[in-house]
Amino acid sequence: MFDIGVNLTSSQFAKDRSAVLERARVAGVKGMLITGTDLPESQAASELALLHTGYCWSTAGVHPHHASSWDERAAEHIHELASRPHVAAVGECGLDFNRNFSTPEQQEKAFSAQLALAAELAMPVFLHCRDAHARFAALLAPWLDKLPAAVVHCFTGTAEELEGCLSLGLSIGITGWVCDERRGLELRALLPQIPAERLLLETDAPYLLPRDLHPKPASRRNEPCFLPHIVRQVATWRHEDPEWLGQKTDENARRLFRLE
Ligand SMILES: [Zn+2]
Repeated sequence: MFDIGVNLTSSQFAKDRSAVLERARVAGVKGMLITGTDLPESQAASELALLHTGYCWSTAGVHPHHASSWDERAAEHIHELASRPHVAAVGECGLDFNRNFSTPEQQEKAFSAQLALAAELAMPVFLHCRDAHARFAALLAPWLDKLPAAVVHCFTGTAEELEGCLSLGLSIGITGWVCDERRGLELRALLPQIPAERLLLETDAPYLLPRDLHPKPASRRNEPCFLPHIVRQVATWRHEDPEWLGQKTDENARRLFRLE
């Protein structure tokens, strides 16, 4: 199994990052993609991936929350990072109209620029979309034939939005959000509609500790070592064998992000 969304650069992992990686290995996680969400984090993610060649890869991009920081210098820096062999995707990039930490105009500008960059480099994109599906799809669609793969990570949208993403050819990242017995039920019911070849699994650690995990760590911090729990739950709700699903989603991650 492969965790496509680990915020390993988070200060929450500052004290025990190597123990976190070791626990993930012991739990059967075969590889992970470290998320870059702004310039310093993308730089740090790339350095971490380089330290753990063959086990960790990273993304380089600017999250919609940080879109106000997008400028010419950011574009150059992301371009340089994205050209490194262990950087597997441009992103996390996209739109988040839920909280608008950057204005919608700033978000659209940074998103479009990163799509253009990914197209120029012929790289996969690692996407974030929250409460912005229509604009997200409109901005993304013209670029899709120039992108080798596009993954919408931590998908939490509606049935209609899932249909929209699938019809665009996107792959879908599912986190432990789906394990939430209050908010995750609609998504849980949609899980069987995602074709197995287009499904990816992720913890989004240290965020989104699965609510149905027992026992829960005292820290309430999520870790990649909890990916097997998500694999098991998603497999149950898709009526699939967990071992098969772990293997299948691992293959998907390696194929889509072209990992070797
Ligand atoms: Zn995200």
